[in-house]
Amino acid sequence: MIEVEDVSKHFGDFKALDRVSLRVNQGKLVALLGPSGSGKTTLLRILAGLEQPDAGRIKLGGIDATGLGTRDRRVGFVFQHYALFRHMSVAENVAFGLKVRKGADRPSKAVIAERVHTLLNLVQLEGLAGRYPSQLSGGQRQRVALARALAVEPRLLLLDEPFGALDAQVRKDLRRWLRNLHDEMGLTGVFVTHDQEEALEVADEVVVMNKGRIEQIGTPAEIYDSPATPFVYRFLGNVNAVPCSVTGGAAQVGGLHIGGGAVDGGGTAFVRPHDVEILELSPDLPQATIRQVIVLGPVVRVEVVLPDGTVLDSEVTREHKDKLKLRRGLEVSIFLRKARVFVGG
Ligand code: ADP
Ligand code: MG
Repeated sequence: MIEVEDVSKHFGDFKALDRVSLRVNQGKLVALLGPSGSGKTTLLRILAGLEQPDAGRIKLGGIDATGLGTRDRRVGFVFQHYALFRHMSVAENVAFGLKVRKGADRPSKAVIAERVHTLLNLVQLEGLAGRYPSQLSGGQRQRVALARALAVEPRLLLLDEPFGALDAQVRKDLRRWLRNLHDEMGLTGVFVTHDQEEALEVADEVVVMNKGRIEQIGTPAEIYDSPATPFVYRFLGNVNAVPCSVTGGAAQVGGLHIGGGAVDGGGTAFVRPHDVEILELSPDLPQATIRQVIVLGPVVRVEVVLPDGTVLDSEVTREHKDKLKLRRGLEVSIFLRKARVFVGG
């Protein structure tokens, strides 16, 4: 288990991490998700022992590791631009961490060769052991970097935007592959990403960071279904964020009653497009006009305009669109299944 307790870090006057606490259980893969500059890399470097916190502690397996150097923490790293040794073959790159060990710690040549062979199998690069980095694609290089990180049998694997520099399709393939590899090996891992889809797809738990602080920690489903703050809603995207007002405990968006608010005042209502239901025009339900209908494969995105001019995105199925003959200019009724109101947000 990894425990981060109340960790803060300044660079000059700038607070890169502000009292961050989190816990990663054995065998879990955790994503640090946040915009650029939110402190993800700084936290990863502190976990690795490459950077010291100003305050707070890091515990590994229940033991205080705050003062320990990188080597003693037994961590493996993969960075976005992992500089493989250019003058070394794939096999030599993977073997490096074992060969540089001293004395009794260093495995025999035969043991090293065997481990390199096993790891290259694992990352599906068996046939490329003799190649040099310049003869590999970007995705293959990152897999070599991963094999190299795994060679020293780290108890913690740290990945900093490992697939960030790759093409979209390669990135998707590699992240599924990382998830499977993780499940097979039972590693404990922390990976950094600014890509919400990547975090939701790969991680057991997602830690959403903003300005050096943790906004929310939860499973991908918790983070997506129940964002704790307006920031998390906005950062995960695919949401309508519309001004609303709360009076006497009732919240209104453009004349629509959308449920309750704890405190009176102006605020923001967040509604996911699939929670904006489109119905046949009915006198008992609020009205709207369709402004745009866009077919995106199996789903259809429909923009509706409320009488006060508020625009909402809705997502419906192809069948629903066909059944109601949804098209630009059509008058419909709408119903918001689920909205979350933040007063002042
Ligand atoms: P992220 O990985 O989320 O993009 P970082 O942890 O790299 O964010 O950086 C957080 C903030 O700390 C940024 O504003 C960055 O400029 C600053 N920072 C990071 N490392 C240093 C450093 N060594 N010296 C000064 N400022 C730094
Ligand atoms: Mg970073």
